[in-house]
Amino acid sequence: MITCKECIEFLDDYIAGDVSPAALENFEKHLALCPPCRDFIESYRKTIEETRCACSEPDEQVGCDDVPPTLISAIIESRKLDREPDA
Ligand SMILES: [Zn+2]
Repeated sequence: MITCKECIEFLDDYIAGDVSPAALENFEKHLALCPPCRDFIESYRKTIEETRCACSEPDEQVGCDDVPPTLISAIIESRKLDREPDA
């Protein structure tokens, strides 16, 4: 089990595209057991989305392509699916 600190550090690596499948699995396991980190990821994602909105101004399309918010959304969606009853 990784710590919350490692979870946040992983997020930075994740956004940089520098993570292994095993690290991603540990990250997802941590999120499954740690509501505060899930909340953090959710707010992080919202911040990214708001940043993208700000950057969608015609004159300000700089630097926003560095962040893959769809990947973070995918993690959050997978967590939501896990919480659904199986039957
Ligand atoms: Zn945590």
